[in-house]
Amino acid sequence: MKFDEYQKQAETTDLGFENMGEVMRIHSYNVPEFIDKVLGLVGESGEFADKIKKIMRDKRGEFTDEERIAALKELGDVLWYVAEISAYLGTPMSELAKMNLEKLASRKARGTLVGAGDNR
Ligand SMILES: [Mg+2]
Repeated sequence: MKFDEYQKQAETTDLGFENMGEVMRIHSYNVPEFIDKVLGLVGESGEFADKIKKIMRDKRGEFTDEERIAALKELGDVLWYVAEISAYLGTPMSELAKMNLEKLASRKARGTLVGAGDNR
């Protein structure tokens, strides 16, 4: 599945998007819905991290198949929020992915993959 196809399907399960007009979907923010998505991303990231933490703490990183699937489901929830936030910012996921890869390739070429700072 392509990123943009995923993003379009994700929108069909975003209750906030159903209440927004076509122009609002792509070009501006519905602030409460947008904040809901940003908080959701943080929450789902926390759910994922908590599952990983417990596997590391209690089982020295040895996942059962069920635990691996449960962690992947939480990671999928993170992906859903990334798709929706990108849409609220008027950006197809394919563009987001491309921007990210270009940023990392530039850092690699300049030897700045390690270090700190957004604009290194
Ligand atoms: Mg979840």
